[in-house]
Amino acid sequence: MFRIGFGYDVHRMVAGRPCILGGVLIPSETGPFGHSDADVLTHAICDALLGAAALGDIGRHFPNTDSRYAGADSMVLLRRVCEMIRTHGFRIGNLDCVVVAETPRLAPHLPAMQQRLAEVMAIMPQQVSIKATTSEGLGFVGAEEGIVAYAVALLMQATSE
Ligand code: MG
Repeated sequence: MFRIGFGYDVHRMVAGRPCILGGVLIPSETGPFGHSDADVLTHAICDALLGAAALGDIGRHFPNTDSRYAGADSMVLLRRVCEMIRTHGFRIGNLDCVVVAETPRLAPHLPAMQQRLAEVMAIMPQQVSIKATTSEGLGFVGAEEGIVAYAVALLMQATSE
């Protein structure tokens, strides 16, 4: 049995914040602002995985009003999400993701992000596709005010319930 899930996230880009995407620190003068480490790509992936399993969303499991998640490493959240979906009898087929950012330039960092995400999810890098694009100068992404990520995930259910 196959299950598809979709995730979307957006964060403001501000000066002086570390730019962590897919668990990889990327050299940048600005970084995503948020309660946790604000890893917008990893948050979209978590929501796609939770969505495929119909287990709610990242905000429900890790509320940004909870001080335990202040500055949280999103890799820890992703590992927890993977444990949750496995506990419910799912395994990951594949993920396909798009990060939309005007700056920094992400292409050179995509292989490291793919490697890191696969490692944390305990799957093969070939199961994780990460793409990057700009917004062609349009809208809040184009104005470098924000960064957006989309993810789709395919899960397989071991037993039909
Ligand atoms: Mg987020």
